[in-house]
Amino acid sequence: MDAVNLLGFDLQGLAAYCEQLGEKKFRATQLFRWIHQKGASDFEQMSDLAKSLREKLKGRAHIAALSVISEHVSTDGTIKWLFDVGAGNAVEAVFIPEDDRGTLCISSQAGCAVGCRFCSTGHQGFSRNLTTAEITAQLWFAEHNLRKRLNTDERVISNVVMMGMGEPLQNYDQLVPSLKTMLDDHAYGLSRRRVTVSTSGVVPMIDRLREDCPVALAVSLHAPTDPLRDQLVPLNKKYPIAELLDACNRYLEKAPRDFITFEYCMLQEVNDTPELAQALVKLLKGRVSCKINLIPFNPFPASGLTRSTNARVQAFAEVLIQAGIVTTVRKTRGDDIDAACGQLAGEVQDRTRAHIRMVRAPVTVAKSTP
Ligand code: SAH
Ligand code: SF4
Repeated sequence: MDAVNLLGFDLQGLAAYCEQLGEKKFRATQLFRWIHQKGASDFEQMSDLAKSLREKLKGRAHIAALSVISEHVSTDGTIKWLFDVGAGNAVEAVFIPEDDRGTLCISSQAGCAVGCRFCSTGHQGFSRNLTTAEITAQLWFAEHNLRKRLNTDERVISNVVMMGMGEPLQNYDQLVPSLKTMLDDHAYGLSRRRVTVSTSGVVPMIDRLREDCPVALAVSLHAPTDPLRDQLVPLNKKYPIAELLDACNRYLEKAPRDFITFEYCMLQEVNDTPELAQALVKLLKGRVSCKINLIPFNPFPASGLTRSTNARVQAFAEVLIQAGIVTTVRKTRGDDIDAACGQLAGEVQDRTRAHIRMVRAPVTVAKSTP
């Protein structure tokens, strides 16, 4: 029997597992703290854990990290790790240090099935969902690796954004226990406001997340009209804008923040005209409490798209701001190491297209801060 990876459990899951082993539930809390707060991976280290439990765990379970294929450190301090998830697939996580916080951008899938036109992950196709253990392992590794290199016992990562490879709400069942671990005071203790799920708009799953684990929500909008959004985000054909906005409003009833962040990737002469900015105002104003985050497009050749000029981005932002909508333009980070959330190009064996496709987009990428 394969060893169980304990990174795959939230506290409730670990308690159930301990019970299965004939152990008291509170042992799970001790074990959980050793794993996530101390970064332990060896049961022998867990000195206050009953010896009998340690013995039981040894044969049956392990704390298995992902193996790191590469690490790149940008001159601005951004760090990008490429992790091996087996069978030729790799996913990326990016750490973005700022004065007042440390943000980790995490992947939820190897590839992505949504296939947005401007996204290099989307162009690679879909390989598979990551498991809870693989999602949590990105945070576990990054947090404890950073503590070691900074020589500190203090928490380094204060924010997590699900903006790496993949559509998190198309991997819902594996995502939720990982989110719960991020929030758990016995693990990373992150505030709900500081954990963000970014989605291209999987409406039924937005509703489920509201009930199961409401965290901050970012919605990748990219267009104010259905015909245009249909072209950019194919999922729009299934869940058009009006339904998506209704789901956003339902989400706000339980959300930890009183606004939804709408992401809007700025594509030259595609979705960046002043008329479309007006249409966006008309769509959103008085309808959903929101902020808009304009993301300069990170080009890659296969997209056939170009980044809006700064002047066009500014003009677009101006229309929104004049209308009273809080708008930010994402600044770029990690330029020199090709580290952009949502634009990460790990290696994916694309099974949706039944042949092995490309892999590392030769992109000039900028990493952005959510
Ligand atoms: N699948 C989720 C989360 C991952 S993508 C989603 O789509 O929201 C994270 C963000 O990066 C999204 O807003 C996405 O639209 C954006 N993004 C994807 N490709 C990009 C590119 N080439 N340039 C800039 N932003 C991009
Ligand atoms: Fe998938 Fe998000 Fe990329 Fe769209 S933007 S293809 S949903 S990862």
